[in-house]
Amino acid sequence: MARKDNCTIMQCDRCQTLKYFERQDDEGFKEWWSIARFDSDGAQHDYLLCADCHGQYVDRLKNADTDFKTWMDGGRS
Ligand SMILES: [Zn+2]
Repeated sequence: MARKDNCTIMQCDRCQTLKYFERQDDEGFKEWWSIARFDSDGAQHDYLLCADCHGQYVDRLKNADTDFKTWMDGGRS
């Protein structure tokens, strides 16, 4: 492989998709997401996700938001 300097290499932490970009304004660059997730012990975990995995992650967050709101509202008596 020829040498390639000054590029950005992205690898999704979930599906392992690998992509490289020569410039940050290349098509698709802004579709990659760095996310921070806190586990039940309060520890932060950072991940890089491709567009497809990020979309699935957001769907899970929406479900978790709904579950959390239902749980919070259920504490009022
Ligand atoms: Zn992915």
